[in-house]
Amino acid sequence: MDASSLLDRTAAHAARYLAALDSRPVGTTATFGDLRARLARPLPETSTLPEQVIDDLVHDTEGGIMGSTSGRFFGWVIGGTLPVALAADWLTSTWDQNAASNLTAPAEAVVEEVCGAWAKELLGIPASASFGFVTGCQMAHTTALASARHKLLRDRGWDVEAKGLAGAPPLRILTTENRHESIIRAVRLLGIGADAIGYVRGDNEGRIDVAELDRGLRDGGDRPTIVVLQAGDLNAGVFDPFAVSCRIARNHRAWVHVDGAFGLWAATSRKYRHLLDGADQAHSWATDGHKWLNLPFDSGLVFVADAAAHRAAFAQNASYSVPVEEMRNQKDWNPEWSRRGRGFAAYAAIRALGRSGIADIVERCSAHAGRLVAAIGALDGAEIAARPVINQGLMRFLGPDGDHDRRTDAVIRRIQAQGKAWFGGATWRGMRVMRVSVCNWATTDRDIDRAIDAVRAAIASARG
Ligand SMILES: *Cc1c(COP(=O)(O)O)cnc(C)c1O
Repeated sequence: MDASSLLDRTAAHAARYLAALDSRPVGTTATFGDLRARLARPLPETSTLPEQVIDDLVHDTEGGIMGSTSGRFFGWVIGGTLPVALAADWLTSTWDQNAASNLTAPAEAVVEEVCGAWAKELLGIPASASFGFVTGCQMAHTTALASARHKLLRDRGWDVEAKGLAGAPPLRILTTENRHESIIRAVRLLGIGADAIGYVRGDNEGRIDVAELDRGLRDGGDRPTIVVLQAGDLNAGVFDPFAVSCRIARNHRAWVHVDGAFGLWAATSRKYRHLLDGADQAHSWATDGHKWLNLPFDSGLVFVADAAAHRAAFAQNASYSVPVEEMRNQKDWNPEWSRRGRGFAAYAAIRALGRSGIADIVERCSAHAGRLVAAIGALDGAEIAARPVINQGLMRFLGPDGDHDRRTDAVIRRIQAQGKAWFGGATWRGMRVMRVSVCNWATTDRDIDRAIDAVRAAIASARG
C-alpha cells in the first residue's frame, strides 16, 4: 500500500473514532491484562504490512483509549483537541521538522516567533518577554526556574552555569499548598531541592496571605528567593493576588514565577481578566497549550521577562549551528535539543479561534463548570466543597454513616464505571473530593445535562 492510501485509511480510522466519541463510554473498558493480551506480541523478527499494523493498533487499543477528548470528560485538567489543531498536528508529523533550530526548521522558527508574540498579547504578558515552546507546564516551570536561578545567583556574583550549585548561595522557593506537583519536580531537577520550598499560609479561599509572604521574605534576609504564585490552581482555580505579591517580592529582590497552566488564558476574557490584575509584574510565566487552548499533546509555553537571563540559562554554541542572522534560534530558549515543531498546531488554533474564540471557550467552560457544580451540589447526598472561580470546582458525597470520604470515592467509581461521564478524585484540605474540571472546547449544555444525570444515578446506586 502506498503512503497516500495508508494515510487515507488512517484518516478514516481517526474520523470513526471522533464520530463515536459521543456514544462510546468516556472511561476505559479494557484492563491492563486485556491490553497486554492483545498488544504484547513477541518481538517481531520480520516485517508486517503497514496497513495491518495500523488496523491492528486501532483494534488492539480498543477500550484502552481514555475518552479525554469527549465533551463529558471532567477529570484532571486535560482539555480536548480542536479539529484544526489536530489537522495541523498531522502536518507537523508529515513535515517532520526538527524544531531545534532555525536552520533545520525555518518555517517553524517563524511560526514560533509569530505565535510567541500572539500568546504574549493574548495572555497579558509584556511584549519584551522571551518565550519557549516546551512539552508542557512541567518543562515551562523548569525553564523559567532555571532562568530565575541564573539571574538570582549572578546578581550575587555566582555563575551557576559554570560552577553548578555546590557552594552557591542557597536558593529558596516560597509558595502555597496550592502549588502543583510539577513545581516540586522542577525544583528537584534544578538541584535546588524540595527542602528549599517554604510554604506560605493561604487565606480561606487558598490565596497566598500577603502579610505572611512579606514576613517569609523578610525572614530570608538576602537569600535568593523565587516566589511561585498560582493563576488558577488545579483544584478550585484560585488566583493569587498578583499586584500586591509582586510589589512585595520586588521589594525583597525576589523573582516571581506564575503557574498559569490553564488560568492564564482567563486573560482573553473580559469577564475574567481582572483575576490576573498585576500578573504582568511577574518575572516568568508558565502555561499549557494542551489544556484550555485545546491543542493535542504535548504543548507548553514559557515566558521570561528578563530575556537575557532566559538565554543565558539555555544558549550553548555548537560549531555546526551556524547562526542565521537576526533569527531566533529555538534551542537557545528551550531545554530540549531535537524536538517536534509545536508551533504549527498553536498557530492554527490561535488563527482559527482568534482572541474572541479563545475567550468564548474560557467563558463557556466556566459557565458549564458553574452549572455542573451547582446542579450536583443540589442533589440529595451531595455537597459543594469548592465553588469554581473559573472552570474548576470540588464536590463531595455524604455517607449516612458520616464516612464522607468513602462515599465520595464510591460515587466517583460508579460514575467512572457507568461510562456516561468521567470525574476523578483528590484529597483536598484533608478530605476526599470529586474534582470537576471543564476545559474542553467541545463540551455542550447537553453534555452537562448528561453528566448531571450520571452523577444522580451514581449516588442512587452507591446508596442501594
Ligand atoms: C497541569 C498543570 C501543571 C502541569 O502541566 P503539564 O502540562 O502536565 O506539565 C502545572 N500546574 C497546573 C496548575 C496544572 O493544572
